Amino acid sequence: MTESFRLGNDGIYRCDAFQEFVWQKHGFGTREASPPADVTLRQIHSSNVLNANGLRNRELEGDALITDEIGKSIGVRTADCVPVLLLDCKNRALAAIHAGWRGTAAEVARHAVEKMASDFETDPADIYAAIGPCVRDFCYEVGPAVSEQFKRWFPDQESGTAGHKLNLPEANRRQLEAAGVRGERIFDCGLCTTCQSAQFFSYRREPENPGRMVAAICRLA
Ligand SMILES: [Zn+2]
Repeated sequence: MTESFRLGNDGIYRCDAFQEFVWQKHGFGTREASPPADVTLRQIHSSNVLNANGLRNRELEGDALITDEIGKSIGVRTADCVPVLLLDCKNRALAAIHAGWRGTAAEVARHAVEKMASDFETDPADIYAAIGPCVRDFCYEVGPAVSEQFKRWFPDQESGTAGHKLNLPEANRRQLEAAGVRGERIFDCGLCTTCQSAQFFSYRREPENPGRMVAAICRLA
């Protein structure tokens, strides 16, 4: 794990860089605990981004939420898919993103940045991003049809052969950078949900009955 994330006594991971901003609270859950989320979506592996202002919990389908409302936490549920939290340090707008391979290929993270820009006048250069626990490339082999859809982020990777390792968090990082988020403001915890079974639920490991972890963020002031 990188040093930029810390596991709290409450069983929830937090990104150090986000902790500088005392007007928010956030967390990436584990098997032990989840941060509270007032609004989540019915997730469908899409690139739909919804503004949570005025939304009720699980009212709509989509895979990313944005808000600038004080006191309302937004969250996503994952078990191997990539949870990404975004924070606009100037306008105090936030996002919670669920990016599996389909959502990543559909560029849900880029759509979230763009909707923050249109709804809250966010400048991507003011965004901090935290990438939470998810399946890592060393645990994630995909076939050529899936691999092919990631060539735009990994142009050097050979395609057409079996057994590709897909690096979903890195694809999301490159997508965020392409959307204008500064590389030094993107933090990845580096944790793998699939092999670190003591801490995390994993869909790949337990497809019959996987639990879900919540990643959530809330503006406090
Ligand atoms: Zn792993």
